[in-house]
Amino acid sequence: MFDATQPARPGVLHIVATPIGNLRDLGQRALDVLKTADIIAAEDTRTTQGLLNTQQIQAGKLTPLHDHNEAAAAARLIEALRDGKSVAYVSDAGTPGISDPGARLVNLVRAAGFEITPIPGPSAVATALSVAGIEGAWLFYGFLPAKPAARRKVLQQLTSRPEALVLYEAPHRIEETVADLLAVLGGERTLLLARELTKKFEQLHACPLAQAPAWLAADDNHRRGEFVLVISAPETVESDADAVESRRVLEILLEDLPLKQAAQLAARITGARKNALYELALTLKQET
Ligand code: SAM
Repeated sequence: MFDATQPARPGVLHIVATPIGNLRDLGQRALDVLKTADIIAAEDTRTTQGLLNTQQIQAGKLTPLHDHNEAAAAARLIEALRDGKSVAYVSDAGTPGISDPGARLVNLVRAAGFEITPIPGPSAVATALSVAGIEGAWLFYGFLPAKPAARRKVLQQLTSRPEALVLYEAPHRIEETVADLLAVLGGERTLLLARELTKKFEQLHACPLAQAPAWLAADDNHRRGEFVLVISAPETVESDADAVESRRVLEILLEDLPLKQAAQLAARITGARKNALYELALTLKQET
């Protein structure tokens, strides 16, 4: 199977991963499929045309399929599959369906009874994990919500998870997200900031969460580009029963005490972390 090219197959949807920065990471099978597919559906046809140009690929017909037209575009692709055409789907960078469009397309094509095949390749989550040194389980969340209250609420839910956490973040939100990670998860867990992976200014920086804001502030370049954040698993995790108890105690105290005092007292009573309880108290206040 080493040198045989593997062209796109008729009546099959090929989900193709593309580079996350370094164009040399485009796989051989991805090249074969992109060269031969009758139709290439792309999150952004101009981005994909740019990639194809760099590889001197005379592509099949390019057609857009993104978050805003996924169902309608999928219906057209299903018709093409029915006509025996070979179809490829690529997102802007990395693996479709991972914090990118593609899931709805896959579901609709599967429901229509057509074969789907993955053409694996780069993904920022796998790339970061390969150098993160995480030995146990990890949980990929992708992008946290953009709004601070919603973001902190999600982080509250994630504090009780025993796994390492993997997040995606954009440069314009990196500082506020890291500040929230510190506030909710505490300063002890290790944060790996994996920046601009596979690109010219690739940088990996690992430090305790407590030191991460200072590192980001120290140099404008530290806040530039694309980020994967890998947060090590907590040393000890509140069991679900403990989490329920902390919440119950906090809710009672909040009836009579100001937020900060309630969090402090709840921390003394339950042994849970004060910062986490403070964040939970903020969330509870917003909910009521
Ligand atoms: N589907 C893609 C994948 O498989 O990785 C992810 C697409 S998502 C819209 C884009 C986010 O992925 C970026 O905001 C960043 O968090 C992460 N990312 C993509 N490329 C990256 C890179 N070269 N270095 C670090 N993070 C990257």
